[in-house]
Amino acid sequence: MQRAAGHHKRLAIIDGQGRYSYADLLTAAQKVASCLLTDKHDLGEARVAFMVPPSFDYVAVQWGIWQAGGIAVPLCPSHPRPEIEYVIRDATPQIVVSHPVFENKLRPTAKSHNAGFLLTSAAANTKEPSLPNVNVDGRAMILYTSGTTSAPKGVVMTHQNITAQIKTLIDAWEWTADDHIVHVLPLHHTHGIVNTLLCPLWAGATCEILPKFDAEKVWDRFVNSDLTLFMAVPTIYVKLIASWDKATVEEQKRMSKACADLRLMVSGSAALPVTVLEKWKAITGHTLLERYGMTEIGMVLSNPLHGERRPGFVGVPLPGVKVRVVDESGQEIKEEGRPGEIQVRGPIVFPEYWGKPEVTRKAFRNGWFCTGDAAVIERGYYRILGRSSVDIIKTGGYKVSALEIEEALRTHPAIKECAVVGVDDREWGERVGAAVIPEAGSSLSLDDLRLWAKKELASYKIPTRLLLLDELPRNAMGKVTKGEIKRLFEGPCL
Ligand code: AMP
Repeated sequence: MQRAAGHHKRLAIIDGQGRYSYADLLTAAQKVASCLLTDKHDLGEARVAFMVPPSFDYVAVQWGIWQAGGIAVPLCPSHPRPEIEYVIRDATPQIVVSHPVFENKLRPTAKSHNAGFLLTSAAANTKEPSLPNVNVDGRAMILYTSGTTSAPKGVVMTHQNITAQIKTLIDAWEWTADDHIVHVLPLHHTHGIVNTLLCPLWAGATCEILPKFDAEKVWDRFVNSDLTLFMAVPTIYVKLIASWDKATVEEQKRMSKACADLRLMVSGSAALPVTVLEKWKAITGHTLLERYGMTEIGMVLSNPLHGERRPGFVGVPLPGVKVRVVDESGQEIKEEGRPGEIQVRGPIVFPEYWGKPEVTRKAFRNGWFCTGDAAVIERGYYRILGRSSVDIIKTGGYKVSALEIEEALRTHPAIKECAVVGVDDREWGERVGAAVIPEAGSSLSLDDLRLWAKKELASYKIPTRLLLLDELPRNAMGKVTKGEIKRLFEGPCL
């Protein structure tokens, strides 16, 4: 925020309502801070939950909370009521801030949890407050993890964590004030908040915020705007490719040419299928830069901005981040090719799960954060094998990576999308189950799939259960929810 004052009249944000400079942003944030503080001088790390659509107003509220000394707890507008109630119950905010469009949804919830309620519209006419000095080691934000394996946990991030995470990416991806990004990601998740919103604002760049992802609108921005960067999750690239496929040849030429003007396109938050990377390269000329990160630690591994971006790999540790792979006894694995758990330490690492000291304690070993992700280093680059709890399938004494099997299955001509899970089995421990969306007009039987897979995979990795679906269940970030897929296998399958 201090840096924003230096960027002053530069264009900070574009949204559906207008264009705003850094000075506009600071003024709007101060008004929010003033409303939050009322007669207090400092919120003293009170939690402030807020639900505001992706827009200039969202950022004004986030920065206003920070200026007033509060902890920002963003709520996801598309989450169902029980999930929002869960966050409010867990974070126990002192105040809930709501855009008027969410008033009916949030006012009763705030009341039933004895929290104050503030509409963003109330901040418009307030005077300049005197602001507290915010301690950089103090808590700044609580983000709720998607909870693929357990109830969501509140990940506490300090101002210092966020600053370190931003600086790492500014260095690695060479953000400058001349950058211009279009923002299409949810704003309750680290990818949308740190990588695509706070990085450009730190650099003095312009962030153009779309209310939600819409493939046609994004292509329109690629074609009709002077964007320099784009960042998204793999499913978004899949949708952009589908939209390109539908366009006329003339339009396709224009769309592809527009992408050539961007300097960087990044994918992360889930494994980027090699087939998607290759198709995107074929239509835009860009080799997507794939990186790996997590809410608790920000971004830690990345393919290089300059240098080889290797398909199927997430690159090497980012500057200032310590990363290692350890075996089950906690020993660092020094040799290449042997899988283990990714552990991380450094100023980017979060200090605690909100209100869960025991869970926090178990998440660290000798100062290293245990990610729960398995990986292997090959020719100097990390390859993610998946989350140990859901993606590492233990079948007949073997440990196999669901991500590796998915990568192979995607090369089958009749498979459009797939997700592999372990299906509980008395004899094998787990069996390899493949949930598949077939290509339009194609059919697929388990026998055909197994016969084909013999040429691609070791016998113990070949699926023995097949489920044909029209859609894969996904969360608000577009990540496949494997717990739901596992449950689907409890019903009839092939
Ligand atoms: P979240 O905290 O919601 O960002 O989820 C973090 C998890 O997403 C990580 O622990 C990984 O399991 C997964 N993830 C993030 N980036 C990648 C990637 N490039 N490839 C594979 N998995 C990823």
